[in-house]
Amino acid sequence: MSEYFSNIKTGAVTIATGLGITLKHFFNATKRKGDAGVDDVDYFRQVDGLCTLQYPREVIPTPLNGRYRLYNNIEDCIGCGQCERACPISCITIETIKVAADDLAVCGKTSDGQQKKFWVPVFDIDTAKCMTCGLCTNVCPTDCLVHTPVSDFSQFDRQNLLYHFGNLTNQEAEAKKRKNAELQAKALAEKEKKAAEAAQQEKSGGE
Ligand code: SF4
Ligand code: SF4
Repeated sequence: MSEYFSNIKTGAVTIATGLGITLKHFFNATKRKGDAGVDDVDYFRQVDGLCTLQYPREVIPTPLNGRYRLYNNIEDCIGCGQCERACPISCITIETIKVAADDLAVCGKTSDGQQKKFWVPVFDIDTAKCMTCGLCTNVCPTDCLVHTPVSDFSQFDRQNLLYHFGNLTNQEAEAKKRKNAELQAKALAEKEKKAAEAAQQEKSGGE
C-alpha cells in the first residue's frame, strides 16, 4: 500500500518538475537574449531568452569575406568570356563588340593598365540560377567579377534576379555595330580595289 502512494507521489513530483521546466522556458521566451543583438559573439551562447530572430528586422550578420551575390565591376571587364565558359549552369550571358581603332582611347584601360578591346553591351547574371560556386570569379583575369557579402536579395518577380552589368545601351551597341560593319565594308572595298589594280598592272606588264 505504501508503495502505491509512493509511486503516485513520484509521478506528481515528476509532472510538477517537468511543468516547472516548461514554465521557466515559457517565461524566458518573453525575454530577448541580451541587448547587444545578434552581432554580439556571445548572443547564441546565452542560455536564457528567445532564440528566434525577428527577420527581416534582425538578421545574422554575414562575414565581410562572405561569397554570396556576384558583382561585376564592368569598368575592368575585358569581355574575354572566360567566366561565361567556366559557369557549369550557364548563368552568365555576355555579348561583345570589337572596339574600332579610333575608339580605343574612349573605351579605355582596366585599372591594371590593360587596353580594353571589346565593348560589353550585355553582361547578365541570372542570380536565380547561380549556386555561388566561384568558378567564374576564379578564372577572371582582371578580378572584376567578385562575390559580395550580400546574401539576402530575394524578389517577388524572378526577372528582378537577372542582373545587368553591360556598359552600352542598345542604341549605343547598334551604333558601334554599324560603325564596325562600315569599316569592314570599307576595308574590303580597298582590298578589292588594290587586287584589281595589281591585276591591271600585271596585265599591262604582260602586253
Ligand atoms: S558562381 Fe558558379 S554558378 Fe554562379 S555564375 Fe559563377 S560559375 Fe556560375
Ligand atoms: S572573366 Fe572577367 S574580364 Fe573576362 S568577361 Fe568575365 S568578368 Fe569580364
